Amino acid sequence: MANPSMKHPKNIPGKFYCTDPDDDNGEGCIACNVCYTGAPEFYAEDEDGNAYVIKQPESAEDIELCMEQLEACPVGSIGNDG
Ligand code: SF4
Repeated sequence: MANPSMKHPKNIPGKFYCTDPDDDNGEGCIACNVCYTGAPEFYAEDEDGNAYVIKQPESAEDIELCMEQLEACPVGSIGNDG
């Protein structure tokens, strides 16, 4: 699970978030580009290629899309507090 105490500082507030690459649990973003390629409306890359959430999903369809990225993230770096 993503560590909620290691959120990327650029995440827009809300239930979805990405964690920093230096997450102590070894679950930080590794800049694999899966999430911001799969759902570019909601995830973006910072200057190092690490992901953060730029928009929170509201519709069921968009939430499902964001959950697909959460499940696809190879290191468990995407969290959902909802
Ligand atoms: S899918 Fe996970 S590891 Fe890959 S860029 Fe997104 S948050 Fe980082």
